[in-house]
Amino acid sequence: MAPSAIEAKPKEKTSQRPISSYVLKIASRCNLNCKYCYVYNLTDKTYLDQPAVMSTEIVQATIEKARIHCLKHELSTVEFIFHGGEPLLAGQEFFRAFTEQANKILLPEIQPRFSVQTNATLLTKEWLDLLTELKVSFGVSLDGTPEVNDANRVDHQGRGSYHRVKAGLDLINSDARYVESMNGILTVINVKSDPLEIYRHFRSLGVRSIDLRLPDATHDIPPPGIDPKGTNTPYADWLIPIFDEWFADADVNFSVKLFQNIIGLIFGSQRSTVDIGARSSNFVVIETNGSIEPSGALKACYEGITKIGLNVLSNEIDEIFDIPVVALFASAEDELPDTCKQCPIVSVCGGGKPPHRYSSANGFNNASVYCRDLMKLIGHVQEKVIGEIPDALRQEMALATLKELVTD
Ligand code: SF4
Repeated sequence: MAPSAIEAKPKEKTSQRPISSYVLKIASRCNLNCKYCYVYNLTDKTYLDQPAVMSTEIVQATIEKARIHCLKHELSTVEFIFHGGEPLLAGQEFFRAFTEQANKILLPEIQPRFSVQTNATLLTKEWLDLLTELKVSFGVSLDGTPEVNDANRVDHQGRGSYHRVKAGLDLINSDARYVESMNGILTVINVKSDPLEIYRHFRSLGVRSIDLRLPDATHDIPPPGIDPKGTNTPYADWLIPIFDEWFADADVNFSVKLFQNIIGLIFGSQRSTVDIGARSSNFVVIETNGSIEPSGALKACYEGITKIGLNVLSNEIDEIFDIPVVALFASAEDELPDTCKQCPIVSVCGGGKPPHRYSSANGFNNASVYCRDLMKLIGHVQEKVIGEIPDALRQEMALATLKELVTD
């Protein structure tokens, strides 16, 4: 195991939030083999020790432990996010049995919500009918046009997946009930692609929402296109043209979550997403064997980092709060790197996603490997949205752009 700041003694946390979302790794294998996937193709190979599908015993224990945690922290809702690998590999009976069991154990005091993140290549009408019946909403992973998607999102034979995903999306668009259950498209940014071509392609697919994600990376394994010792900002340069077109479109029926989140944070929202915002997160991962873990994105850092020795069969969810690596997410506001604490836009950026701060030399006490990009993107969004606000209101709200903060 690599040395890191996470081995330091736990400090008292002030920003800790109870866990209201459970990312369930119900299938630990995938029918695709995406080149950037942290589960299969970065440093951590622990998936090889996992059962292929979550057992009935683990399902039961997970729901029971979630119930205990909700009651203790007076949470009236809980979210189960079916994840993988490819979660549909768990099979239709698994989804029926899980949702029935959760409703039985949790209702009426606690309202469960369900969603699934799928690569959509296995979707059929039968699957969509079942998900709709069970009230499981779904998000689809796709990286853009056929050429761009298939550069990374390939199967185990190296064949691109675009046309299989598109068939799944066409099926979703064929029925208003399915469209209603669709959460949008999740896409990992490829800076070699043409940003406006990607944006317009997503708009042409008839989806209502996209989530643009930065590739998982650390200071030790920098993201494609970033020169850690240089000054380039390929991710901001890719995102800014999309932001400008989306902002000019002003279409309330098409959301780009990253931009909406940045705008919300500029105006004081406390809602963080995985890539941005300092607000402590409220989710844990449950692996197929019942292991309770922090975000799987940490697997980009080093082998075994998420293995914190807790399991739903023998531990309570509350025990995660004593683990330093969990605090990076669960008490994010207390865990900011020294550089970020001084940053004029820390209230928006929040130091980015914790794994993006990691280096084997300093642990997590670095600004994000995307720092230059985040600063440029956030500065641009600030200028644009604050520029739309009349001066008097701007002064009343005490809103200042990054440029003004730096030059004052
Ligand atoms: S812009 Fe850079 S220094 Fe500022 S909070 Fe984000 S990562 Fe930290």
